[in-house]
Amino acid sequence: MATSTKIEDTLGRGVRDLRISVTDRCNFRCPYCMPAEIFGERYEFLKREEILSFEEIVRLARLFVGFGVEKVRITGGEPLVRADLTELIARLAEIDGVEDLAMTTNGFLLPRYAQDLKNAGLNRLTVSMDALDDDVFKEMSGRPYGPEKVIEGMDAARDAGFSPLKINTVVQRGVNEHTLLATAEYFRETGDIVRFIEFMDVGTLNDWDMSQVVSGKEIVDIIGAEYPLEPIDANYRGEVASRYRYLDGRGEIGVITSVTQPFCGDCTRARLTTEGRLVTCLFATVGTDLKPPMRDGATDDELNKIIERIWLNRRDRYSELRSSNTDIGAAVVGREKIEMFRLGG
Ligand code: SAM
Ligand code: SF4
Ligand code: SF4
Repeated sequence: MATSTKIEDTLGRGVRDLRISVTDRCNFRCPYCMPAEIFGERYEFLKREEILSFEEIVRLARLFVGFGVEKVRITGGEPLVRADLTELIARLAEIDGVEDLAMTTNGFLLPRYAQDLKNAGLNRLTVSMDALDDDVFKEMSGRPYGPEKVIEGMDAARDAGFSPLKINTVVQRGVNEHTLLATAEYFRETGDIVRFIEFMDVGTLNDWDMSQVVSGKEIVDIIGAEYPLEPIDANYRGEVASRYRYLDGRGEIGVITSVTQPFCGDCTRARLTTEGRLVTCLFATVGTDLKPPMRDGATDDELNKIIERIWLNRRDRYSELRSSNTDIGAAVVGREKIEMFRLGG
């Protein structure tokens, strides 16, 4: 077990989880994240030299473990479009102190990579699946294919030993709330855990407004009306999803209510963007670029000082402010934010 120097921010929150975005590119164009009309052929994604190398990612992950990080999640963009990703997984899995190595993916490339990811040491997989219905899937992925490939990818992941999968389902009013029951039914059969996510105002490109949010409560009511549910305790402090189990014993679901019931008080997540910015909130306007000091030869001690200073000064609680119905709440909603595909979910 690695020794670590635990640090706490201004609200007494430690740093437990590190989410690393390994690419800003994606093979989907979900309108709520990377709308196709903006991310077309001419869109300029980051160049190779602008993104963190595997060495840089592994180095930073080690430093964060030194401050108490135990969980690392790989995300993006779509992580599986980054070349040689399994090599990075293997290197992160070797870090003493990383107790849990997970990835969030849209699943499209899992038929090819699921087994390699398992062999490399990945512990857990979250696959995003907004709807199994053909038309709704196309609409929410922004691509002309149905869900077959992702279903195949989830099968490959279970075969490789990633059961139960976590499934992320973003719920957008007027788009997929009529398919939620079918989604819940399907994953009751496969034994996976669906987490229904309230549509969030991340980034600046998805024209978010409150009328598109289906609340966690409404989601639980829709599913619970057919398959009765009861709340159950969190697995650990700071768990993002509120958990409910089916009364008939056929598994559980989660709802992520970052809009209607924010959970900033327990937020122990740091984020590293593809280009190496340390960001301390999903809704941040800026981050601190760790790449220049790293490339200018900063020592581990020097980098640690930067990370420590940022965390000790952290005061983020965006979702709580947004929901506070105050002038501050109104002001934070309108401000510039880093896009989700740069930050990872
Ligand atoms: N490409 C991968 C995927 O889609 O799983 C990983 C990155 S994606 C940004 C991470 C998660 O964020 C996905 O589950 C996605 O559905 C979710 N997400 C993206 N935009 C969102 C929004 N506006 N509200 C809620 N969830 C969102
Ligand atoms: Fe790509 Fe994931 Fe964003 Fe969809 S949510 S566009 S799959 S990064
Ligand atoms: Fe954490 Fe920011 Fe989300 Fe609050 S709004 S839970 S501080 S990421």
